[in-house]
Amino acid sequence: MNILVLNCGSSSVKYQLINGAEQKKLAGGVVERIGMSGATLSNVRYDGDEIKIAGEIVDHTVAIEYILAILLSRNHGVISDKSDIHAIGHRVVHGGETFSGSVLITPEVIKTLKENIELAPLHNPHNLRGISACDANLPGTPQVGVFDTAFHQRMPKKAYLYGIPYALYSQYKIRRYGFHGTSHRYVADRAARMLGRNLSELRLITTHLGNGCSMAAVDRGVSVDTTMGFTPLEGLLMGTRSGDLDTQIILYIMGKEGLTLNEAGTLLNKHSGLQGISGISSDMREIVTEMKNGDRKAGYAFDVFSYRVKKYIGAYAAAMGGVDAVIFTGGIGENSTDVRTAACEGLGFLGIEVDEEKNLSKEKEKNISRAGTKTAVLVIPTNEELVIALDTMEIVNALKKA
Ligand code: ADP
Repeated sequence: MNILVLNCGSSSVKYQLINGAEQKKLAGGVVERIGMSGATLSNVRYDGDEIKIAGEIVDHTVAIEYILAILLSRNHGVISDKSDIHAIGHRVVHGGETFSGSVLITPEVIKTLKENIELAPLHNPHNLRGISACDANLPGTPQVGVFDTAFHQRMPKKAYLYGIPYALYSQYKIRRYGFHGTSHRYVADRAARMLGRNLSELRLITTHLGNGCSMAAVDRGVSVDTTMGFTPLEGLLMGTRSGDLDTQIILYIMGKEGLTLNEAGTLLNKHSGLQGISGISSDMREIVTEMKNGDRKAGYAFDVFSYRVKKYIGAYAAAMGGVDAVIFTGGIGENSTDVRTAACEGLGFLGIEVDEEKNLSKEKEKNISRAGTKTAVLVIPTNEELVIALDTMEIVNALKKA
């Protein structure tokens, strides 16, 4: 079964065509600058063939047309007919409290997603646009929604309630949801395989460090706590997001600088984090380079970033009564030896010790813990698209049998 996996943003659509049975990526790419001048589609085929096309890509429906055209093209394509796409899997950011797993997209599901727009105003509208663009281009092809929030839906109340009046939870559903769930789920599964153990017997701390960063305590397969909250702003320091913050600070700054609600949101989401502290960049590579060149603020940004990861490792070990493995993933988690070293430093009391030689090895998936230590430290490249493809295949196969 070939599954078209889509991640629709406001002005971009990332895609992969995956053969589910063989777990093989046939092609993938991104449409960028949708609705703007200079829109492009970049596609890479499984054999390395690359092509970039410019076009007038006015909306998501046209973006999907472009994607289909390239997948079908004689010179750069991988399929010969639209019907070779058997199902579509969408990454959907917010499933609210309704979705604790992936679902077939039906009119009822679309209605619920619309109701959840308020919870994810920056993301869910584009996901909905992607769904209707597929309806227009590939009518009748089953579509499945895979939610970033779903994996965290089994968190206990003590982990997801905030210390504000309960009525605000009842009325507005203000609670911790958590995000990056597909990634946390994938690396937790993979970790169990690497360790040759059952997920149901492991206490894992999964650490997704990309532009957005989050951690989860995965207790015997269940996410029991996670650092992102009602929105992706909470928790770890990120590229441009502040992460944890005394909320009173924002009220104070709004008063001092006369910021509007929107401006305050922009400050916390776009001008904070690594970028905000360093004043240099939101990119960890540049932060590390400048820190090593002696830039003080880059050093502070690196230290706050790594310290917070360490702090949550301690917190989540406490939440689960122990930890069997810490897993690093995401662009920073997979590549930054410096962050891994700093985040694990001093955690010997939890059995966490990094072997620097293994840490530096070029292998992508690896166990970097020192021999003889109690807790594994794993580096696992994430693969959210594969999870989306496999969930989609499972749901569509079940549909056929029904
Ligand atoms: P996104 O969350 O947008 O998917 P990624 O998972 O690709 O982002 O992560 C982007 C981050 O990964 C950036 O901060 C980038 O600097 C960092 N990164 C990528 N490669 C390296 C590397 N070799 N060393 C350190 N950081 C890296």
